[in-house]
Amino acid sequence: MTSPIRSDILIIGGGIMGCASAFFLRRRGISVNLLETDLVGRQASGTNFGNVRRQGRPLYQLPLANRSIAIWRQAQALLGTDIEYLQRGHMRVSYRNRPEIAGDMERYAAEAAQFDLDLEMISGNALRARFPFLGPEVLAASLSPDCGHANPRLTGPAFARAAERAGAGVHEMCKAVSAAKVGDDFLVTTQDGREFRAPILLITAGAWAKRFVEAFGETAPLTSRGPNMCVTEPLPYAIGPSIGVATPETMESVYFRQVERGNLVIGGSIQNPTFPDEYRVYVKPENSIGQWQQMQRLIPAIGKLNILRTWSGIESYLPDHQPVLGPSAAVSGLYYAFGFSGAGFQLGPGVGETMAELIGTGATDIDLTAYRIDRFSSE
Ligand SMILES: Cc1cc2nc3c(=O)[nH]c(=O)nc-3n(C[C@H](O)[C@H](O)[C@H](O)COP(=O)(O)OP(=O)(O)OC[C@H]3O[C@@H](n4cnc5c(N)ncnc54)[C@H](O)[C@@H]3O)c2cc1C
Repeated sequence: MTSPIRSDILIIGGGIMGCASAFFLRRRGISVNLLETDLVGRQASGTNFGNVRRQGRPLYQLPLANRSIAIWRQAQALLGTDIEYLQRGHMRVSYRNRPEIAGDMERYAAEAAQFDLDLEMISGNALRARFPFLGPEVLAASLSPDCGHANPRLTGPAFARAAERAGAGVHEMCKAVSAAKVGDDFLVTTQDGREFRAPILLITAGAWAKRFVEAFGETAPLTSRGPNMCVTEPLPYAIGPSIGVATPETMESVYFRQVERGNLVIGGSIQNPTFPDEYRVYVKPENSIGQWQQMQRLIPAIGKLNILRTWSGIESYLPDHQPVLGPSAAVSGLYYAFGFSGAGFQLGPGVGETMAELIGTGATDIDLTAYRIDRFSSE
């Protein structure tokens, strides 16, 4: 066997969390190797809807989301490539049969303003005039003009390639099969028999993180599901913001965005079953049909369009819908960033910068208390 490949930091998992962490670690001059089973950004980070949305998140998550959006805004300059980030707004709408949701949105807007998230409440004629395509059931809206959407297929790889250009080792088709602490170092072996060694290990393995967490004697009740997606044939480009229904009813919870090429990308409603061990998720046709019916309720004119493609992706979920983010509670030098529960694409750049800051300096201004791994230790 050849001698281990060494670096200051080793990362397992090349989704947006791992790739952004590698990028920001290199900006601090820290040497890093990243291991990815397949190609970078191919799982949740490449199959997601592309919402770069802050509203609707718990207030305590907004400092991290704000850190992230600052990076999204300069992503093209930072990464040297266009990831199709369009800062055209994000809007949540409520239906007439749930007037309490409009009240919830008003209250959220008042509280979120203290966290630098400005939300504009729109209803009545003003809403109809600005968004005439919305169906008659829509009552009110909350618009975040400073959010937007981006192309997930481009984003993870853009961070990985930028990290590589800055000197990171990005090892694709390189599955980690074991990880252990040996003396002061972590030793990770890969399916093709290579050994990687580093004093710090960061687990960003998404829906596959649990086996590494358990290997180090900790636990996280991680599950996975597959949000349902589809894309329509193109229309003339007209709809700037990404728009979604705010509702406690899963079936109703559809959302959509228009890309500049004109297609509508649609997500939400019932999710699909996943098979992470096989790297598979199957779209259930009834989920796509249900989603489409809800979209016709939101935008009646959409019924005339054809769907070109449906897909799904394997996303990791935790019971409180918050990620695990920060140091291990059991093993020094071990860090985690996984379990983003359907909302990690927006957070990805901010998570990368925060993990690099935490690992590089030993501290971060972002309060990570809500994301501690040991919140699950008594379960
Ligand atoms: C269909 C869908 C729609 C979504 N829509 C949105 C949205 O609009 N906005 C939003 O903010 N979020 C959204 N999300 C959530 C978001 O995509 C995820 O939270 C985020 O991408 C998670 O990133 P990650 O890097 O943690 O995970 P992943 O992207 O899944 O990356 C984990 C990586 O680890 C690798 N890996 C696993 N095991 C190993 C191993 N043993 N060795 C090496 N590598 C390994 C995997 O191959 C994978 O590439 C959506 C998710 C899905 C699936």
